[in-house]
Amino acid sequence: LTYEVTASHIDTGAGEGVLLCFEDVTSLEQVGQMRRDFVANVSHELRTPLTALIGFIETLRGPARRDEAAQDRFLGIMEREAHRMERLVRDLLSLSRVEAEERVRPTDRVDVAAILGSVLRALEPVAAESDVSLVQTGPTEDVRVLGDEDQLRQVMTNLAENAIKYGGKGKQVRVEVTTSEDVAALRGPGVEIAFHDQGPGIDLVHIPRLTERFYRVDSHRSREMGGTGLGLAIVKHIVTRHRGRLRILSEPGQGSCFVISLPMQ
Ligand code: ADP
Repeated sequence: LTYEVTASHIDTGAGEGVLLCFEDVTSLEQVGQMRRDFVANVSHELRTPLTALIGFIETLRGPARRDEAAQDRFLGIMEREAHRMERLVRDLLSLSRVEAEERVRPTDRVDVAAILGSVLRALEPVAAESDVSLVQTGPTEDVRVLGDEDQLRQVMTNLAENAIKYGGKGKQVRVEVTTSEDVAALRGPGVEIAFHDQGPGIDLVHIPRLTERFYRVDSHRSREMGGTGLGLAIVKHIVTRHRGRLRILSEPGQGSCFVISLPMQ
């Protein structure tokens, strides 16, 4: 707990004294700390690719000046690092946009089953690269919620991309759509979309922290795979904006399942 103490001199007539006022500023202090941590994280995440870029530019101007094979390889790495920065900036912008809109409820009726179908079709080439098969089960259209189409598309893209990335080569990703009059997580009618993968699973200690910005189970692996560490933070904000819930069910060795529940009137 953090208190701010102010002391003032008082004279009650009956005698003089000091009035001490203790104000609980714990939450203000926490918000300040979170903001400082966030800026430090963003700076670190941007500095890493920038340092690599500067290093390779210097090498290209110097030792690798006449080495065409090395130039080619270094330009490839530079391109990858520049794309990493681009993704980071894109995700930071998405996050700040959804945070700003969090209190405004979406008013359009959108078909989440159809959106899911189009997201999975768009990800087919990415899945094929890793030899992952993508399967959608349950209704494929006419499952309507009040929602923001672009944001729900982003939620499904992030979860499907993670399932493909972390599920592993040659495995299956199954996305199941179910509707119910009484979804337990919502205590009312809604739709659930569950992304099942057959990956290594996630240790219980990490699960509650996965939606924190920049939290990764294995930073090196996530970066190698092009991750920004912001995907699930974005998912959580968007789902909350839709008055929905995100649940993560996983055990090491058992694969993972990320479930979003969205209310339907
Ligand atoms: P990233 O850009 O690193 O993928 P995310 O916010 O999307 O960031 O995910 C945070 C972390 O959660 C990842 O770094 C990874 O360690 C873990 N994670 C996410 N999805 C899965 C999954 N399907 N299986 C195993 N681990 C996952």
